[in-house]
Amino acid sequence: MKTCLYLLIAALCILSFCPAIQQTLSATIPTVQPANTDVDDSDAFFRQAIMAPPRKRDFTPEINALVSKMTIEEKIGQMTQLEIGLVTKGDGDNIQIDPEKLEKAVVKYGAGSILNVKDQALTVDKWHEIIGAIQKASQQTRLKIPVIYGIDSIHGANYVQGSTLFPQEIGMAATWNPALMQRGAEVAAAETRAAGIPWTFSPVLDLGRQPLWPRFWETFGEDPYLAKVMGAAFVRGVEGDDVSSSKNVATSLKHYVGYSFPLTGRDRTPAWIPENYMREYFLPSFEAAIKAGARTIMVNSAEVNGVPGHINHHLLTEILRNELGFDGFVVSDWQDIKKLVTEWRVAPDEKEATRLSVMAGIDMSMVPSDYSFSDLLLQLVKENKVPMSRIDEAVKRILLVKYQVGLFDKPMPDPSLKVNFATAASRAIALEAARESLTLLKNDASVLPLAKDKKILVTGPTADTLISLNNGWTYVWQGNNAALYPKDRPTVLQAIRNKAGDNVTYVPGVAFDKEIDIDAAVRAAQSSDVAIVCIGESSYTETPGNITDLTISDSQLKLAERIEATGKPVVLVLVEGRPRVINRIVDGAKGILLALNPGNEGGAAVADVLFGDYNPNGKLPFSYPRTPNGLISYDHKLFETENTSYGNSAFSPQFAFGTGLSYTTFEYSNLQVSPATTSLKGDVKINVTLTNKGQRAGKETVIVYVRDVVASLSPPGKRVRRFAKISLEPGQSRTLTFTLRPEDLSFIGLNNKPVIEPGDFEVLVGGLTGKFTLQ
Ligand code: BGC
Repeated sequence: MKTCLYLLIAALCILSFCPAIQQTLSATIPTVQPANTDVDDSDAFFRQAIMAPPRKRDFTPEINALVSKMTIEEKIGQMTQLEIGLVTKGDGDNIQIDPEKLEKAVVKYGAGSILNVKDQALTVDKWHEIIGAIQKASQQTRLKIPVIYGIDSIHGANYVQGSTLFPQEIGMAATWNPALMQRGAEVAAAETRAAGIPWTFSPVLDLGRQPLWPRFWETFGEDPYLAKVMGAAFVRGVEGDDVSSSKNVATSLKHYVGYSFPLTGRDRTPAWIPENYMREYFLPSFEAAIKAGARTIMVNSAEVNGVPGHINHHLLTEILRNELGFDGFVVSDWQDIKKLVTEWRVAPDEKEATRLSVMAGIDMSMVPSDYSFSDLLLQLVKENKVPMSRIDEAVKRILLVKYQVGLFDKPMPDPSLKVNFATAASRAIALEAARESLTLLKNDASVLPLAKDKKILVTGPTADTLISLNNGWTYVWQGNNAALYPKDRPTVLQAIRNKAGDNVTYVPGVAFDKEIDIDAAVRAAQSSDVAIVCIGESSYTETPGNITDLTISDSQLKLAERIEATGKPVVLVLVEGRPRVINRIVDGAKGILLALNPGNEGGAAVADVLFGDYNPNGKLPFSYPRTPNGLISYDHKLFETENTSYGNSAFSPQFAFGTGLSYTTFEYSNLQVSPATTSLKGDVKINVTLTNKGQRAGKETVIVYVRDVVASLSPPGKRVRRFAKISLEPGQSRTLTFTLRPEDLSFIGLNNKPVIEPGDFEVLVGGLTGKFTLQ
């Protein structure tokens, strides 16, 4: 018996010290298969998400009773959000509560909220210690109002060590799978709550229509409909049916609104968006997420049409409250009231900036590193420059969310929730999401999948790092601290080695921005059967991610060109968060696989696709530009024909929106649109048959585009109106039915209101065209 035990312990020790065995283990750990998440009709999914919004309990009597007891100082405290450094000392893992600072923040100033990490992700236990101390302090205040802690859980609970990490939003958009998005969001919420945190600053609902923008990858891509369906799925996943449950947290939709479309492409710079286009393109994702039940909203740090987001009364109050009926609270972004003075210069001093933003509709200020907001707002109220009614309104909204997330019942972190953290089932969902996000852009002469007995060169700066697979908001803000990444998740290189073992040679060749030894990589290519060239981007977000040229770095282009010149087949693996221009190396590559920040399971997923253990099914959620100045979205105006590349119709993307190849072949047939003529009140039915004509099972996203042939405002060439993602066995066929309602045919007119104009419409699905007339 004893001998058996020793043998077992010895085996476990060997397993835990041998990296090769660890990697093989890690590649096989997720034995739990997620349930089928196919979505037969985006509209049915979407309507269920928004038509059955979560239960919102009414706490009016409790809130009114509480507010009636509060002093002005206590009310203003609730509107104040401070960063963690204002209650702690020490850095990294050594962070600790500083009792004096805590007393000042929570007891003296009565801060309603605390946010963020001090440098890096903490363990669940450390979070419990810190948040437990904060709540203990809140329970020593006169009215015992709990503090609401908020964190950026952007692609999982990324500020909690050991959490399950998913593809970033741009990768989730490439899955075209809202059911998978919802399940991923459920995991992110459960793990955030397990750490004792009831509020996340996600999802990002800005549209990714400006690829230079360093937060492009935080979006669901360029299409408003895809963003709205995925955003609603995200909110439903995070908030669940009961946001006070031990597995759910409150969302914060961001960044309301127009932040993602700066003219310069740089972070936090001006956008010019006329109101009809704001309503047509940028508002629908927010509107849908509000209908799906979202509790809070964070504001655009930049400006639109010369009006900084934080003083835009029209957007923050007239549209958000009066039109969209939002009843949660609005939080500012980081230091943005101060920036009204220092950057935007719409106020001479911080006091006036505070007045303007609170009167515009900001309920809580992410101050976050001093007490100026509380002090100035108190003066403004005492001087009758901000009415008490506005303060009461903001405080009631904040208290409502605190009640709804269950903080008044259970302010302390609950250690028993650790069972929900980083489970095998959650990791299986993350792996599935990473696989579904991978998008095969080119596969000439079926270079992929690769045989495992071929001699393979792996080269390039994204081959052996988890950092590019994850990007920003991973353990640290910029995602760039390699020491914090898990040791048991394979990089692309390690995952390829797990499958092809000794047949793999690795020569880095270049770093992101400099050559290391391209000659060595070329020599290795010459003695290999195939070269996998892994290029792309490192990690970044917000202003540090600004660039002035979308072209991928010269060192990476040179590496790929030199390897291509050997004549050996080349597969480019692009690991990046925005479409870096690669036209110099596209023709010379036989295969191109795009990995849009698929997360910690991304290495394994890439190897699965390269060797055919998984059949790829991602589709581009944006237009991949051929040239740095060729930035036009798929829904551009139809000046001439789609493929003309002269005149005004310079639309010639490297890879069009919706591109995504499979190892099987799907055939579209029998597109039927009925009735041929319909009234302004009638529905239109679209049937189309999809057949798997190839040799292996696969998934396909069917995208239904509609073209308004003539309209009083020049119509886009086409718009996505529906999609469905389904699995088909070889030889299997399915007929899908979609229903378009009149509102799907409307657009925002010059009067900023939806209009539906009679006339002809075309329906485009998988290369087939149908039409109908609206009378
Ligand atoms: C970002 C927000 C984020 C906030 C808190 C800001 O700099 O713009 O997206 O939620 O910081 O971390």
